[in-house]
Amino acid sequence: MSWQQRFRQALDQRRAADGWRQRRIIDEQTTRTLHSGGRCYHHFSSNDYLGLTRHPAVIAAWQQGAALTGAGAGASGHVTGYHRQHADLEAQLADWLGYERALLFISGFAANQAVIHLLGEKNDRILADKLSHASLLDAASHSPAQLRRFSHNAPESLATRLASPCEGETLVVTEGIFSMDGDSAPLAALAQQTRQAGGWLLVDDAHGIGVVGEQGRGSCWQQGVRPELQVITFGKAFGVSGAALLCDADTADYFLQFSRHLIYSTAMPAAQAFALQAALHEVQQGEALRQRLQQNIRHFRRGAASLPWQLMDSESAIQPLLVGENSEAVALSARLAEAGCWVSAIRPPTVPPGTARLRITLTAAHRPEDIDRLLEALHDAAG
Ligand SMILES: *Cc1c(COP(=O)(O)O)cnc(C)c1O
Repeated sequence: MSWQQRFRQALDQRRAADGWRQRRIIDEQTTRTLHSGGRCYHHFSSNDYLGLTRHPAVIAAWQQGAALTGAGAGASGHVTGYHRQHADLEAQLADWLGYERALLFISGFAANQAVIHLLGEKNDRILADKLSHASLLDAASHSPAQLRRFSHNAPESLATRLASPCEGETLVVTEGIFSMDGDSAPLAALAQQTRQAGGWLLVDDAHGIGVVGEQGRGSCWQQGVRPELQVITFGKAFGVSGAALLCDADTADYFLQFSRHLIYSTAMPAAQAFALQAALHEVQQGEALRQRLQQNIRHFRRGAASLPWQLMDSESAIQPLLVGENSEAVALSARLAEAGCWVSAIRPPTVPPGTARLRITLTAAHRPEDIDRLLEALHDAAG
């Protein structure tokens, strides 16, 4: 089959399954509102959980940083791209989360690929929660290490996997708060089993960092767990982009010597590292924002309890409504858009077949009346 034939077949299948993905041009957005196609919507699809993308201090830091250090880092960190701002941010992150070291990556996707790529060798195994993010599972499936999935948030399923023998090392992989379900991993139980078996635990806390735990330190801190490896990302609650790996000093040195994702890639702009320091400060001081977010979550869940779609078991900012069929999820999303509410439909392969859903995200920037408007639209669509 030629490339052309292959593409056409795959695209036809995607269309036929109501799985077509479309980017929409956004003309303007805040954390609460979004302008597209000449209309203004209430925005319920952003991961900007604390509203920091618009924070004046974060924007000012990026502007000042660019004026001082230039628009880009100019090179990989191993050449001349490692600026004072990167080093300061790494030190602040390590100190904040209680690790010896932090290493910056340009994205969470890159960080996860780098970790799995570097750790998994032949005879090792990677045991991953089956709902782990694509960046983790993709890397693991390409790794020479063996990939085994365990049932979602099920320590007993992990225990069964750990009980089978393995010649090499074992890396257990999970998320703090799951991106498409919004539920939290039982980190204490997973960490204990992993340690007992002599393995290492990697927690990707993209959706927990900044949002939960004292000073926003995330899911691990909240659950009293300190995994060997933690990946945090800055595109969500931090309101910027980028990621960091938290680890011990030897691990950091090993990455700096051998991680191709660090060595052969231009470092994030120093201005971005400066903006991230401002965002970190807001996250640390963000108790009022976190409380407002929790109030919004409670408000939404109270109002959504009587809807005909299953409200998933989530206490996080991610509040999915399980719809089932792709076509129904797309239709409901379109119906809400007509009513002025922007909510994305999430379909396979991002989620398992038959579990298409609306992924509603709430933020600290939403006002109670925004949530009432969404609830009204949902109840109208139901009735
Ligand atoms: C968003 C996300 C990533 C990717 O992070 P980026 O910085 O957006 O590349 C990784 N893991 C999880 C769980 C995510 O939700």
